[in-house]
Amino acid sequence: MTTDSDAPDAVLDLVVIGAGPVGLACAIEARQAGLRARVIDKGALVNSIVGYPARMEFFSTPDLIEIGGHPFPVQGYKPTREEGIEYYRGVAAREQVDLRLYERVVAIHGARGDFRVETSRGLHRTRHVVVATGFFDVPNRLGVPGEDLPQVTHYYREPYPYVQQRVAVIGGRNSAAKAALDCYRHGAQVTMIVRGPALSETVKYWIRPDLENRIKEGSIRAYFDATVTEIRERSILVQTPDGPLDLPNDWVLAMTGYQPDFAFLATLGLTFADDGFKTPIFDETTFESERPGLFLAGTVCGGMRTNRWFIENGRFHAQQIVKHLAGQRTETIPFASIHWKTEE
Ligand SMILES: Cc1cc2nc3c(=O)[nH]c(=O)nc-3n(C[C@H](O)[C@H](O)[C@H](O)COP(=O)(O)OP(=O)(O)OC[C@H]3O[C@@H](n4cnc5c(N)ncnc54)[C@H](O)[C@@H]3O)c2cc1C
Repeated sequence: MTTDSDAPDAVLDLVVIGAGPVGLACAIEARQAGLRARVIDKGALVNSIVGYPARMEFFSTPDLIEIGGHPFPVQGYKPTREEGIEYYRGVAAREQVDLRLYERVVAIHGARGDFRVETSRGLHRTRHVVVATGFFDVPNRLGVPGEDLPQVTHYYREPYPYVQQRVAVIGGRNSAAKAALDCYRHGAQVTMIVRGPALSETVKYWIRPDLENRIKEGSIRAYFDATVTEIRERSILVQTPDGPLDLPNDWVLAMTGYQPDFAFLATLGLTFADDGFKTPIFDETTFESERPGLFLAGTVCGGMRTNRWFIENGRFHAQQIVKHLAGQRTETIPFASIHWKTEE
């Protein structure tokens, strides 16, 4: 389909960087307000969710992660990853969101009213830009020798590559807990390396007893107050309270969380608070950054605090930004949620 905005020199009202749930919500709000919006993503539609573990269940009930006023019907109580992807795909199609996928944004030139968004495929002219780039592309690195060996990953997809393999799961939060249980239940020999004295308090109440019991009965081995100091081809070196250990091992799942791509954000002219979390600076009611005309939305707003904003509350950023562009009054959105806490 050809639209006005396909003309090479057409000026859009809004370019949204990132086709995650929040980026899509921004484009839909804009369209519903009569603005011309385009969403550009360096990967697939809802690329972060595509990268989540297969059959993962969201913690949120579907009503809390709906966008654009479209109901989200699911089979069970909580949506799965696959249902989520299919829902957002369907909503994007129904709303005719102008999408450019597998096109990476590399720079933003110009100023409010006349931005030129430079991508791997060309330039897009727009009056405003929303940065909704999330946090899932840059893993928190362990910073130890061997981290770049091919048997190490920061992204857990499914247990099948690890059948009858020795798997070290690094981390003590939800992602680590779920990966450890999943691998154990599919025939892997699992060892957890946890930096703290116990599993994180944020591990979901329905996961914790299962994992604690597997550790107690010895089905999953766990070292607490322990850190990996080196990864070798067939073993890992671990510093424990009882001294260093050299544990024979095949695969490493480093479930140590992720952070926004701060280098990219800095090149866009965004500024950050000196608060220990590199929180981007923006107006809390309009979500406009210190670069006029450039807005932030979704998880990226929290800086290192990637659990501050998620789909449940981040989707409301879209309404605030569009209200502001339409000259309407905006308000602050609370970032705490009783429904969903930290995942990693
Ligand atoms: C396992 C797991 C379970 C979760 N469960 C829930 C839940 O139940 N409820 C909930 O509310 N939240 C949940 N979350 C958090 C939620 O998924 C994120 O908060 C959400 O994806 C954030 O949406 P977003 O649109 O801000 O960013 P993202 O979904 O991360 O989207 C950002 C997009 O920006 C793109 N991008 C980045 N850089 C560029 C660039 N330079 N050029 C072009 N595109 C770029 C990326 O490819 C990506 O598609 C979960 C997270 C995880 C990891």
